[in-house]
Amino acid sequence: MEKEEFRKYIEKECKENNIINLQEFEIDKLYTYMKEILKWNEKVNLTAIKEEKEFIVKHFIDSLTIAEYIKNGENVIDIGTGAGFPGIPLKIIRNKSKIVLVDAVNKKLNVIRDILPKIKIEDVKCIHSRAEDLAQSKEYREAFDCVVSRAVSNLTTLVEYMLPFAKIGGKVICMKGPNFEEELKESLKAINILGGKIEKKVTLKIDNVLERNLIIINKENPTPKQYPRGQGKPLKNPIK
Ligand code: SAH
Repeated sequence: MEKEEFRKYIEKECKENNIINLQEFEIDKLYTYMKEILKWNEKVNLTAIKEEKEFIVKHFIDSLTIAEYIKNGENVIDIGTGAGFPGIPLKIIRNKSKIVLVDAVNKKLNVIRDILPKIKIEDVKCIHSRAEDLAQSKEYREAFDCVVSRAVSNLTTLVEYMLPFAKIGGKVICMKGPNFEEELKESLKAINILGGKIEKKVTLKIDNVLERNLIIINKENPTPKQYPRGQGKPLKNPIK
């Protein structure tokens, strides 16, 4: 896809899905990001989505659904970012925000590190770590205005990864698919123990078909020191 076609398509998609108008320079960066990810994808397994229009919708539009909940300048951490979603599209339109991208798989982060200078983006830190280890470090624990994550784990596990990173007064945005209600019920105890309180749930239909649920949690109290637990416990033995 040429840049002009990309611009028209993403502008149309933003309009139809109530996402703020993108500026020309933001569209340029998203275009380069897509082309680079798809190029790298031939060597490194980054995404199953290879068709460009589908990429625009499922990676860019979907990532940008959280933008209205994040102010420009707030610092953000993206847990299990993979090929940079939702963190990179968010950073492109929230250019004053510092962002940390975390993933347990370094080869994906290396791809992002390679692309960042090509889209002239600064204040992005890529950290190779498991979330539960990083959240126990002084520098990162309770240090973020906003913690985001898409497609990483079930909600109970996910909140144990995410809530420790949020400042008191900060928030956590979990991007979940359909049928999250049961998961949400099961996670309420964990959210409470970890110092969170559900602010709201937002259900969106991207292109009238793809269901995206945003679960927004406020960090009201400090997370007790023993959380997140190490050695894979949040996943193997979620808080009950
Ligand atoms: N957020 C991206 C990637 C989803 S795939 C997207 O929506 O496209 C899930 C990613 O989470 C993988 O890259 C995996 O390595 C990472 N991951 C899973 N558990 C993790 C953990 N405990 N800490 C850090 N990264 C984790």
